[in-house]
Amino acid sequence: MRKILLLFLLFVSLPSWAAPAKLQNLKITTNKQHAQLVFGLSRPVQYHIWTMHKPDRLVVDLHDTKLAMQPKINTMHGMIKKVRMAEHKGNLLRVVLDLQISKPAKYKSYFLKPTKTQSNRLVLDLGYKTATKIKLQPHVPKHVTTVKKPKKLRNVIIVIDPGHGGKDPGATGPHGTHEKNVVLAIAKDMQQMIDAEYGFTAKLTRHGDYFISLRRRLAIERHDHADMFIAIHADAYRDHVAHGASVFALSQRGATSEAAHWLAQKENESELGDVLANKSNTLRSVLIDLAQTASISSSLILGDSIIQQLTKVATLHHDFVEQAAFVVLKEPDVPSLLVETGFISNSKEERRLRSSAYQHKIAHALTLGIIDYYKHHPPRGTFLAAKRDRNLLG
Ligand SMILES: [Zn+2]
Repeated sequence: MRKILLLFLLFVSLPSWAAPAKLQNLKITTNKQHAQLVFGLSRPVQYHIWTMHKPDRLVVDLHDTKLAMQPKINTMHGMIKKVRMAEHKGNLLRVVLDLQISKPAKYKSYFLKPTKTQSNRLVLDLGYKTATKIKLQPHVPKHVTTVKKPKKLRNVIIVIDPGHGGKDPGATGPHGTHEKNVVLAIAKDMQQMIDAEYGFTAKLTRHGDYFISLRRRLAIERHDHADMFIAIHADAYRDHVAHGASVFALSQRGATSEAAHWLAQKENESELGDVLANKSNTLRSVLIDLAQTASISSSLILGDSIIQQLTKVATLHHDFVEQAAFVVLKEPDVPSLLVETGFISNSKEERRLRSSAYQHKIAHALTLGIIDYYKHHPPRGTFLAAKRDRNLLG
């Protein structure tokens, strides 16, 4: 399924006021081993070439370009089976080459300056990785600069943080169920399901019953370059009648409900001093605030996506994302949520929470919510983002 072979960007400096370029002609010569395409353009353009597999295609995106030639191109022989071209929104002209591929293809592209008889030309040489060297030497004009190296695509990384552990059992239910065990089981189940999804990797902050500090949890998140941080809890509440699951995001202004305030205080108590150290620099805190505002809004959307799934399997304390000042969620830049899967202090809920069937239901709902969110909001440079771009291609 790793469909993108290579992502290649070339930028040509252009005055922003320039009218769209015109693709005036396209000359193709092809045989079984290579192909050469010469795009005749009214001026140099920004372009972007990328490949897809199954079926094998090579796509040339010409930015700020209009079609000024017959789009019909006869069926090819040799390396190229078919050529299609279409204008897209924002003056994007997309040329798709269906390739006859037996081995991985490679390509080279460059601009040729206009001559007395020829216009600006974008030349694309295509060959196979093992084929004899392409003879033509690239004549890269000086104003063409490579700004980005081909970048490898990556998975979306979800860091799951099962609360408590080891000497810190978390809340304990009336029948002796420890929060630390319930949340670890849910987290492990989530990890398996998320890992099985295309384009996702899930990591745990703890894998067993041992103590881990809040600072360490955040360090793991940073180390793993998380796209999302989700803490799983099942706390006790002073009110033994309280029940239902809740989803919390960080708040800069304080808790949106009394329960949120109370839980935040409780979760924060243990290591507040440790985490809030070295936060005196004003500029730094302003920057962190800005980053947090951005990640809070994505956290709220993500939380909503999770709530939509959770309502199907659990009673919810509130059917909206609550906001509280949890220390463990204070990691700027990464959407972070804390899920209270239920109040273990409620004996009915304790019974449910200790059953693996219910744990699985919760884990499944959380997983679906996360996956649904990232399918709609894939972070840059991920397989999911590339997949979405391909789907837009039709
Ligand atoms: Zn907890």
